[in-house]
Amino acid sequence: MRKEKKVLNQNNTEEPIRFVCVFCGETIAPGELDPCALIVVAAIDRPRAEQKEQTFYCHINCLKDRSSVAGSFYITDHDFPTIGEIENEQ
Ligand SMILES: [Zn+2]
Repeated sequence: MRKEKKVLNQNNTEEPIRFVCVFCGETIAPGELDPCALIVVAAIDRPRAEQKEQTFYCHINCLKDRSSVAGSFYITDHDFPTIGEIENEQ
């Protein structure tokens, strides 16, 4: 069962976090793989202390559509294990 992340709004009541796609600008509805997070590491060729990181959000299909390596998105394979499934196998 999927747990939805929630935040407190101005009325101090909980509501689901809304993610907006960095590519199309639309709100990302929960799906099998959506929402996705893109963690960008700048200066990846330098020591860790010199790098910067930023997280973006996107639809998996918007990312695939803009990628020149769409055929290698094994994360979209239905039998590709979740992190929890990999941890349970260890
Ligand atoms: Zn999108």
